[in-house]
Amino acid sequence: MKVALVTGSTSGIGLGIAQALAAEGTAIILNGFGDTEPARQALASTGARVGYHGADLSKPDDITALMAYATSEFGGVDILVNNAGIQHVASVENFPIEKWDEVIALNLTAAFHTTRLVLPRMRANNWGRIVNIASAHGLVASAGKAAYVAAKHGLLGLTKVTALETARTGITCNAICPGWVLTPLVQRQVEARAAKEDISIEAAREALVLEKQPSGEFVTTEQLGATAVFLCSAAAAQVRGAAWTMDGGWTAQ
Ligand code: NAD
Repeated sequence: MKVALVTGSTSGIGLGIAQALAAEGTAIILNGFGDTEPARQALASTGARVGYHGADLSKPDDITALMAYATSEFGGVDILVNNAGIQHVASVENFPIEKWDEVIALNLTAAFHTTRLVLPRMRANNWGRIVNIASAHGLVASAGKAAYVAAKHGLLGLTKVTALETARTGITCNAICPGWVLTPLVQRQVEARAAKEDISIEAAREALVLEKQPSGEFVTTEQLGATAVFLCSAAAAQVRGAAWTMDGGWTAQ
């Protein structure tokens, strides 16, 4: 049985990916903040073995502890999904320095630490899958998101280097670049927009999507979960270093 560590999987995209992998019979190590019970319940029907570690991934020592837990309780990680991420919106000259550090630490540096720590076991097994959840903002920018855009562009760089360094092995590393997905992270941006523009939540949600996504529709966590399952499959063995867009046409413009 394969073991997947999905970071930031107590809600949103991470939980959707954990559900999809669990449905394939993969054991899941959940990680993230807040109440873990809803996530555990969401996975219960799959019958998959589920563990949890509450590491704060912006702290390298916590990541080391998370990996020690994965090794002692599950024998190690076969599938690593680097998903945990946060957003902060401010112009470059007004960007709080501590927010810059937080966003880079979680959205970029954490993936470096988890990747370097899972690779030895994956190399020993000559099999592994690393799926980095980047963003359309890994490929294009939006004003006000300097740290996030820099981190996601960096994550695509890390994805490509990892893919090249493992190219002669059974390990692959790829990124998924979602457009808007209606998760708690985006709901907060919808609420901020509704307040700023004095419009309803519904109107703010529609304006947010249509501004960037030609489809006018949100990407779903189920769609992202199915894509992660594909990238972890044998059929995707030669997908290496890809930045797979799922953005309703955002970056095709
Ligand atoms: P979310 O806020 O719903 O979930 C984030 C998860 O990360 C939660 O489980 C949270 O507890 C966890 N987390 C936060 N800080 C953490 C920390 N320091 N250590 C460990 N875990 C932490 O967000 P989401 O929308 O599901 O985003 C997941 C990923 O997808 C992020 O990397 C985000 O940048 C990316 N993404 C989201 C969207 C979108 O539209 N929602 C689009 C593109 C990319």
